[in-house]
Amino acid sequence: MTSAPSAPPDPTGSVLDLFRLDGRVALVTGASSGLGSGFARTLAEAGADVALAARRADVLEHTAAAIRQSGRRAMAIPMDVCDPGACEVAADRTVGQFGRLDILINNAGISAVAPALHQDVAEFRRVIDVNLVGAYQMATACVRVMSRGGSIVNIASVMGLVRSLLPQAAYSASKAGLIGLTRDLAHQWTTRRGFRVNALAPGFVETEMTADLSPEWLDRFLRVGAVPRTASQREIDAAMLFLAAPASSYITAATLAVDGGMSGH
Ligand code: NAD
Repeated sequence: MTSAPSAPPDPTGSVLDLFRLDGRVALVTGASSGLGSGFARTLAEAGADVALAARRADVLEHTAAAIRQSGRRAMAIPMDVCDPGACEVAADRTVGQFGRLDILINNAGISAVAPALHQDVAEFRRVIDVNLVGAYQMATACVRVMSRGGSIVNIASVMGLVRSLLPQAAYSASKAGLIGLTRDLAHQWTTRRGFRVNALAPGFVETEMTADLSPEWLDRFLRVGAVPRTASQREIDAAMLFLAAPASSYITAATLAVDGGMSGH
């Protein structure tokens, strides 16, 4: 297994080995539901031990228990990514419990749909705080303790790349900001510290976050792309694993759109 992005993988091994995470430790934020819960299970399936962080302790523990049953180690860390101290505690607890930290999946996020002239600025700030500042705080907390060769995957959105057809200024700005943050942190940390930083921009996946969006809007939105359906959790899991694992060891500062072609026109 590669130890740093500068070291290419063993050319004699199977390419499938590059997707394995045996002996690695991952921390996933927003792991109590939706994409984050699936990401935690996928990382464990690939061999990693996983720390699950989010606000809801009971739901986190449910996923952690399922991972332990599958044979990997898992720990639930109730926390809020808006609290910088809590981000440092989450990183330190992961290393304290599992001995190392290799992968951060910055997945915690919230959305807001409101016309700009009717949106409370406090709500706008809250979205930026969780989706952008929270991801920045988690990244800086984790790089203090991460092992060389580590990977940070920021879960952005197709809304950071194309217009949403809904009034979502705060959400779109937060995700476009996260893509910019990804590029900058990659250039600060890949050469100097050996951490890759990439963004994943999913299209539409049915989760708690998207449950209230109208079927009429969804129908119009999906027709923007080339694959007129929603994405499955597994399709997003696969792309996340690629960016987290040594399979993508030559990729940093990139944004991978998994959006059925929505951003490709
Ligand atoms: P979700 O609402 O099911 O999950 C969001 C998670 O973030 C929850 O576990 C929640 O507890 C956690 N969270 C929210 N605020 C937090 C905070 N302050 N501190 C810690 N945890 C916090 O939604 P989801 O669809 O699974 O979204 C996961 C990520 O994927 C988000 O960043 C979202 O923007 C992004 N995304 C989702 C879609 C989609 O179609 N579902 C598309 C593109 C991007």
